[in-house]
Amino acid sequence: MNIYSAGISVMLRVVGHLLILLTLLAPLLLVTSAESGTSARSKVTSVRHWSNPSYTRVVIQLDRKSTYKSHLLRKDVSIKKPRRFYVDIDGAVLGSEIKKTININDGLLKKARAGQYNPKTVRVVLDIESIDDYKVFALSNPYRIVIDVSGKGGNGSSVAAITPPVRSAKKTVITKPRVKKRLTIVIDPGHGGRDPGATGRRGLKEKDVTLKIGKMLRESLRKKTDAKVVMTRTRDVYVPLEERTAIANREGADLFISIHINASRKRKATGIESYILNVSEDAESKRLAARENSTSVEDLSDLEFILNDLISKVKTNDSVVLANIVHTSLISSVKKKYRGVKSNGVKQAPFYVLVGTRMPAVLLELSFISNSRDEKRLRSDKYLGTMVKGISDGVVKYVKGA
Ligand SMILES: [Zn+2]
Repeated sequence: MNIYSAGISVMLRVVGHLLILLTLLAPLLLVTSAESGTSARSKVTSVRHWSNPSYTRVVIQLDRKSTYKSHLLRKDVSIKKPRRFYVDIDGAVLGSEIKKTININDGLLKKARAGQYNPKTVRVVLDIESIDDYKVFALSNPYRIVIDVSGKGGNGSSVAAITPPVRSAKKTVITKPRVKKRLTIVIDPGHGGRDPGATGRRGLKEKDVTLKIGKMLRESLRKKTDAKVVMTRTRDVYVPLEERTAIANREGADLFISIHINASRKRKATGIESYILNVSEDAESKRLAARENSTSVEDLSDLEFILNDLISKVKTNDSVVLANIVHTSLISSVKKKYRGVKSNGVKQAPFYVLVGTRMPAVLLELSFISNSRDEKRLRSDKYLGTMVKGISDGVVKYVKGA
């Protein structure tokens, strides 16, 4: 044996020992990787849906953020299966409590089916009856993937009941809306249940004030119009933001009004502001939207990135008109009776509750609960009534095309 072959022999023996060591350790290594693999995976915790004959919203909820891909399969008459749309969620497992098949049968979708496509992928398949359009987007905290589909549907319930005021680009002529059927107005009192919203220094909770205002507004609108008025909640209960939007769409609503009370770290911050859905450059508006969405400003940027695809220009223009009319009426009503009321104007921000609304929609921030004078006023029915009068006068004006 020369030095060279002796060296090889030592190396082989070392490699041999290493292999034995690895063989012994292998089960331990596998267990470790399997465990970390499981903990790194997201779990699909629920699949829910809301629908009417022209609209369906399917929401897949997960316990953490995941990446996903969606595909709409082409019509294939050669296979006798319905046309399908599916979402593949990476690194996900199906929760054991999930109902794997959900019958929808609303004329747009037949079924939603959830399954473990492979060890690392959950696939949610929608069996299609007939759809015209779809949108997919994600919301954060909790992470959920929202699929909105629309189509002509069976009874045409999505047909707009009013033609909202249209401003011509050249002339300043405003055409009056033509009333075709009884209007539906959806009032959305912000927060509720385990979500108190903002709390004042003396303990007043946003969720209680918004519910009170919502009920007063319902009464006021029922007196002033013959509209059907629907509320997203009528008691102290938690309703997820995407469900509130879905309720308005399912009702085929003509107007959507979300009621909130503002808050700021600056004790002196005060005033009333009205919002429509859009991307925002304003840091304060972004912080507000993040708080109202129970998410972070960083998470908002994911949504803003795709927001232009999610909002229709027509509905945005109508929302601007609605927000301006309601805001002006609201401020004038309150200023007549109260001193020092500040109008912070009509602004825009990416509020989750407005994403996917299929009607003119506005979110109102009615004073600052963090301001001691505002908090005191928000405890008074007279103050709330004055705001409600302003809002309902504005809605009537908008509906009449004034
Ligand atoms: Zn709020």
